[in-house]
Amino acid sequence: MKKFTKITSSIGPKSESKETLARMVAAGVNVCRLNFSHDTGDVQGQKIDYIREISAETGTPVAVLVDMQGPKHRIGVFETEDRFPLTPGQKFVFDSDPTPGNSSRVQLPDMDVIHSLKPGDRILLNDGKIEMQVETVNSDSIEAKVIRGTEIWSRRGFNLPDTEVATSVLTAKDRNDLEYALTKNPDFVAISFVQKPEDVIETREFIAARTSHPVKIIAKIERPQAVEKIEEIIEQADGIMIARGDLAVEVPFEKVPAISRRIVRLCREHNKPVIMATQMLGSMVDSDFPTRAEISDIATAAYLHVDATMTSEETTISANPAFVVETMAKILRNADEDSIENGQDWSDAEELPENDWALSVTLMAELNKAAAIVVFASSTNAATWISCRRPDVPVYAVAKETVVANQLCLSRGVFPVCDAKMFDERDAVAVAKHFGLESGIIVVVDGEKISLHKLG
Ligand code: PEP
Repeated sequence: MKKFTKITSSIGPKSESKETLARMVAAGVNVCRLNFSHDTGDVQGQKIDYIREISAETGTPVAVLVDMQGPKHRIGVFETEDRFPLTPGQKFVFDSDPTPGNSSRVQLPDMDVIHSLKPGDRILLNDGKIEMQVETVNSDSIEAKVIRGTEIWSRRGFNLPDTEVATSVLTAKDRNDLEYALTKNPDFVAISFVQKPEDVIETREFIAARTSHPVKIIAKIERPQAVEKIEEIIEQADGIMIARGDLAVEVPFEKVPAISRRIVRLCREHNKPVIMATQMLGSMVDSDFPTRAEISDIATAAYLHVDATMTSEETTISANPAFVVETMAKILRNADEDSIENGQDWSDAEELPENDWALSVTLMAELNKAAAIVVFASSTNAATWISCRRPDVPVYAVAKETVVANQLCLSRGVFPVCDAKMFDERDAVAVAKHFGLESGIIVVVDGEKISLHKLG
């Protein structure tokens, strides 16, 4: 059986050669994620060129997702490389002074942040290992009390779970990076630290002013403010990434599974693809065997019917990224097969609208014991909508445009091909044959026309 759940893989130093990328695609990568927090400009451009070449040489659609760093805040540097002691109860000052810090103060380079904080707000540093509480906000400094944590050092990440930061979702760096990335026609742009639906609108306007290429926007959910406005954000975005790394710092970590489950359900209801991200095979950075918990996390995501799982450091800095992808693909294939053979979990689907044409197509396939659904895809819409009903047969999508085929790489159970001739001929039997299907019934979706065909 084909793997229905897609794989998004982060590409970095250990996976950026054309040879490794080709092995990763052969192993099951559907979407390549280029993280602009690390590399920028032509270093990322070269990876995009390789991915496009591999796709053309193998006839395999692969999507390119460029991921913007966003307003990730970090404190400045300290007097030495050492760790400076902290004592719970002590005062600590963040200010705008670039002089290296010590155990009582350090610079916070983003003044926007200082102006957004209120007394009582929590400040989390170093992935939540240090907690402080704001006591006084001055015009160019903040005094805070240490609640938890025993040491602090240079360039630690700075999370503000209680604060809506009055800053653009696109920093000056992001604008530069995105300007460059758009010249390479990416399929998806992911934006980090989204707080509100307007952040997606702002990004869409930025993109529309620079290109007519139909780039789709993925909103990364990692702030409590985004969780609060999740429905409006899903409506504005073209897809969602559940960025569990920062999310588990900014909300109590025990709430992340329930938030994730709700986001997956809402994405399905709004016909938007959803990626489950972060630490899915993290142990494989230095091991060639996943932990039992990772195996279970990946399978659980597949049972939850996410569109895609994701690899992070395990495919950027591990010794064998293609093996990591093979491992993830094997786990997904088994979970997908089990969920199809032993019944789907429809319990989250009860709010799907009645008289929904995509659900009708799915039920038609089920009632007729169809072997596949064939979609002539002039855009991503029909195949994405049907995918969001999670049919237990493959959706074979024929696109005329490469970008449509690439973007469908993110949708669960959709197998895209870009073939203008096949698209123009409208021969569903030929499409089924292309995917190796010679007999059985297929449901065909061609614009508003839905029909049944018997093969063979
Ligand atoms: C995350 O925080 O989980 C995430 C995916 O974002 P990034 O890797 O950009 O920090």
